[in-house]
Amino acid sequence: MSHPTPSLSHFKRSDYQHIYEPAEDTFLFLDALEKEQGFLTDLNPTVCLEIGSGSGCVSTFLATLIGGSGTLFLTTDINPRANAATLSTAHHNHIPLDALRCDLLPSLRHTIDILLFNPPYVVTPSSEVGTHSIVASWAGGIDGREVIDRVLPLVDGALSKRSVFYMVVVNENRPEEIAERMRMCGFGMEVVLGRRAGNEGLKILKFARQ
Ligand code: SAM
Repeated sequence: MSHPTPSLSHFKRSDYQHIYEPAEDTFLFLDALEKEQGFLTDLNPTVCLEIGSGSGCVSTFLATLIGGSGTLFLTTDINPRANAATLSTAHHNHIPLDALRCDLLPSLRHTIDILLFNPPYVVTPSSEVGTHSIVASWAGGIDGREVIDRVLPLVDGALSKRSVFYMVVVNENRPEEIAERMRMCGFGMEVVLGRRAGNEGLKILKFARQ
């Protein structure tokens, strides 16, 4: 990667007991965004929003990659410690950004130009889904799809006309089924990057209006 990963030196090890520590999925996401830099810059985005920002590493990276003074960077997270962590990472790396405590997305109509989501994708019992703690970082319920499946129907209404949505998945999430759902909403899907990390087959999916 030629663009540096945002500095996270302001975190203590103990912080990662409460917020998601950037890992292989996060770094694959950064690699994919870097690969897409030309496309993302050409979009000339006004509003970028990341759902589930955790440490804030991904949105801070996006802002350094494409940042212009006319672009608004917003993040959401259901975990209040993640909102604070995201703000501190942005501040530490001199990036202006607003972090909202919110379940998935605020109700913005056809506003978001770049939407990002590294969701809780791990297959777990459904009973683990829906907490506001560190467990919300990974608990995806049946097929790891319970949070993902709540986002998919919101994408069309939230995204602007000229926009893009990137999402991290693992093979257990059945990416082809996700592609079919999004096709029904008018979005085409491509795989930007894939990597095996331990027992996870990670992919970065890109959705754009057809
Ligand atoms: N974006 C960070 C990264 O890539 O390192 C963190 C990703 S972590 C896999 C998933 C994040 O989504 C966690 O910070 C978690 O708190 C957040 N999250 C889970 N469910 C959410 C929901 N319903 N609304 C908003 N954020 C959610």
